[in-house]
Amino acid sequence: MSEDLEILRHSTAHVMAAAVLDLFPGTVIGIGPATDEGFYYDFGFKERLLPEQLPKIEARMREIIKAALPFTKEELPRTDAVALFERLHQPLKVELIADKVIDATARIYRTGDFVDLCLGPHVANAGLLGAFRNNSTPT
Ligand SMILES: [Zn+2]
Repeated sequence: MSEDLEILRHSTAHVMAAAVLDLFPGTVIGIGPATDEGFYYDFGFKERLLPEQLPKIEARMREIIKAALPFTKEELPRTDAVALFERLHQPLKVELIADKVIDATARIYRTGDFVDLCLGPHVANAGLLGAFRNNSTPT
């Protein structure tokens, strides 16, 4: 996978998580890496996600992409980052800070209201993202 493709895929994972949190507040998020096939994001939904809800997530992703929301980077003191993700009710992010943030600062990225603990890099804004739906049948 080229670095550019990895950046596109990973940035799209952020947009998917942003869409999911907009539509399903209270969802707990894990990590969202690029993969050889595309990308994924770990979600802990409060209620079971139904297949008919997937088009809503896609539609919200398209709105975020159309709005070309920027990915903005911030460096936060570790304790502030923990407080932020506690306030956002994201316990897995708090755990990740404990496990992965080895120096005094944690890097976060914002896309609209969505906040993620992440080293990046990402696209400059969501408007640079395009196709994200894989229509092939899983094997
Ligand atoms: Zn990221």
